[in-house]
Amino acid sequence: MKQSELFPKTLKTAPKDAESINHQLLVRGGFIDQLMAGSWTLLPLGFRVVQKIIGIVREEMNAVGGQEMLMPLMHPKAIWNETGRWDKAREVMYQFKDTRDKEFALSFTHEEIVMDLIRKTVKSYQDLPLSVYHFSTKFRNEPRPRSGILRGREFLMKDLYSAHTTEADMADYYEKVKKAYIRVFDRLGFNFRVIEASGGVFTDKVTHEFQVLSDGGEDTVYYCDQCDFGQNKEIFTGKKDGKCPSCKKGKIVEAKAIEVGNIFPLGTWYSERMRVYYADEKGMKKPVWFASYGIGITRILGSLVEVSHDDKGIIWSPQIAPFAVHLIELPGGDKAETIYKKLQEEGIEVLFDDRAVSAGEKFGDADLIGIPVRLVVSAKTGDRIEYKERNKADSKLLSFDEVVLLLKK
Ligand code: ATP
Ligand code: MG
Repeated sequence: MKQSELFPKTLKTAPKDAESINHQLLVRGGFIDQLMAGSWTLLPLGFRVVQKIIGIVREEMNAVGGQEMLMPLMHPKAIWNETGRWDKAREVMYQFKDTRDKEFALSFTHEEIVMDLIRKTVKSYQDLPLSVYHFSTKFRNEPRPRSGILRGREFLMKDLYSAHTTEADMADYYEKVKKAYIRVFDRLGFNFRVIEASGGVFTDKVTHEFQVLSDGGEDTVYYCDQCDFGQNKEIFTGKKDGKCPSCKKGKIVEAKAIEVGNIFPLGTWYSERMRVYYADEKGMKKPVWFASYGIGITRILGSLVEVSHDDKGIIWSPQIAPFAVHLIELPGGDKAETIYKKLQEEGIEVLFDDRAVSAGEKFGDADLIGIPVRLVVSAKTGDRIEYKERNKADSKLLSFDEVVLLLKK
């Protein structure tokens, strides 16, 4: 991609109302644009990062047998009435009437919709277990959407749903998905904790939140500095700096965190209310065991910026960067165009700064956009290329082949 053609240009300053780091840097860098409170366009650069995040999540969901599909976002009132959530979730749900006075809601989650699908398709124990997921927009009437793209009124989520014949089978699969989530957040490079939270009205079991440790977070979590113990503020009864109630050795740490995922062993709460049954081996009708698993895709975009930036801009890691390299042409660097083509032939994703602007502006934009590797070609570099990593101060002069070798490592 040539930077002279990239839409839109970067901004020198952040919008006045931008309080959080992710809001400031993602808007300035041209990754996202705000339409209104809690509502964002993913611009070409932002959408590239989101596609990388989706790619990682998709691989791990497929690896635990999840089958990808796509469900509608506009739902009839009748389905939400079956569980009573039309009234109970009124505050977060966008509900409306069409011109014929029929009532609908915009999706804030999909449990009822999946349950309806299972009711129509699953007859016997032979049709179970099943695991389906999609990436789609969720709408939530958040009272005060702030924190940039971390909290939207419209945002992208991956939600997976699994259905089982027994509680034991559900619990087994729940553990598998928990491990898949850990792989996802490891691959994204997060410093995160798996945190126990209450299941609310849906289950007496604990649910698990995946919390990225970050001062930019709205949540407060408590975790042990030595074992896996962790609980959110709502259920933790101990004290910070106190002894860990689980291993009895470690100390409890209190920290700000961003919830990037949440998994729920829902049991039969939904199947009993929606009459979702399967026939067992003896032909007896039994309620389906059900669980749901969410990941906040666009929230991850913001979280990555919250935890990886400096005073000049964003610092992407290679696995999620919008491009692998930022190639910069300075006066006298007329080989840059050839290098651009050759890098593309090697299958490397390049952003090529071919603009007629000052070196200072090019370097400033490169630091702001945060692509992990910067390559400079100028009169000074001769037949070599200056190679610099975004998170390091020093640079080196390399041949084209040496650059490719490093990039493919
Ligand atoms: P929160 O407590 O932050 O409001 P939640 O617990 O209501 O989130 P869940 O219903 O668990 O959210 O949704 C699954 C995931 O979707 C969350 O873990 C989070 O990553 C993401 N998410 C939830 N609400 C939003 C939002 N308003 N904007 C962006 N992402 C969100
Ligand atoms: Mg949650």
